[in-house]
Amino acid sequence: MATASLTIDLDAIAANWRALDRMSDTGTQTGAVVKADAYGLGAKRVVRALAEAGARRFFVAVSEEGAAVRQALGPGPQINVLSGHMAGDTEMIHDLDLTPMLNSVDQITRHLESLPGHPFGIQLDTGMNRLGLEAAEWEAVAALVLAEEPELVMSHLACADEPDHPMNAAQLAEFHALTDGIGVPRSLAATGGILLGSEYHFELTRAGVGLYGGRPFADARPVVALALPVIQLREVAPGEVVGYSCGWTAEQPALIATVAAGYADGLTRRYSNAAMLWDGEVPCPIVGRVSMDLITVDVSHLREIPRTLDMIGPMQGVDDLADIAGTIGYEVLTSLGHRYSRRYVSATTRGQV
Ligand SMILES: *Cc1c(COP(=O)(O)O)cnc(C)c1O
Repeated sequence: MATASLTIDLDAIAANWRALDRMSDTGTQTGAVVKADAYGLGAKRVVRALAEAGARRFFVAVSEEGAAVRQALGPGPQINVLSGHMAGDTEMIHDLDLTPMLNSVDQITRHLESLPGHPFGIQLDTGMNRLGLEAAEWEAVAALVLAEEPELVMSHLACADEPDHPMNAAQLAEFHALTDGIGVPRSLAATGGILLGSEYHFELTRAGVGLYGGRPFADARPVVALALPVIQLREVAPGEVVGYSCGWTAEQPALIATVAAGYADGLTRRYSNAAMLWDGEVPCPIVGRVSMDLITVDVSHLREIPRTLDMIGPMQGVDDLADIAGTIGYEVLTSLGHRYSRRYVSATTRGQV
């Protein structure tokens, strides 16, 4: 089979949720952020594993994602929509019992008029200038909104992955100023905020990337493994070139393995002549350009050529690849393509999708 295999460890996701949950007091609930198809790993399987581990609140970016999560979970768990209540979403929000996190006066009006009595939350902007009501808007509508009993009031930290950044304390102070005494559950921390300490936790945290094994949760259990099948071997003589634009030239006799995956699978061209594939603990450098479906690897030093080489595994994690590509683990995960044969592994259920 020339399909690369992506293994997703559901037990590791559950363990990471429990570990993040243990970092806050018992009075703090740990929510799970599963937007973008659970950071590219497959929301259906991931949310079921998280619900089994004990997660009761899920966050998605848009209502359509919320619908998919509701279908996977059934009634009960709360599903919060971070983009709020957009025009055209009313029926979905109602029928699938989604909780929109309203982020503007327009959205508040739309929600209270179209779905009176339907659960909602409020998003406040404490300095990131991305989503949420600004202080003056909140002051103008707070009394009216609080009378409608929101389920949650939240804000989002801009620099939580840098513990010493002064923005963290500034946003915390602003969040207190806007919300102290309102008598509504509050949430400020995503993964980075959980690690900042208990004063950032309030009643609910929103763990995302840490669940999937990414920085800044350094103690996370790795979740993803990616093995690429070797489909051809080629001996090249000194002076011969490999790949598009003659991206690599052999200086000595070399054995080149061609493996089946490329930038169409989320393996960016930035890995060209930069990242490694791994045969167990032995690194094999990518030589030449990553192309759409194929990557060429120098395996001259291997005594035996394995059937597959690891792109993501114990020797090279998601964040290592992110460093090589000049991006963050979030982007590496959400770029993982749809051609992989995906295996979901857990002690209780072993399956293929
Ligand atoms: C994506 C997101 C999260 C999760 O962030 P991580 O850094 O992945 O833990 C939490 N809250 C909001 C508003 C988000 O957009």
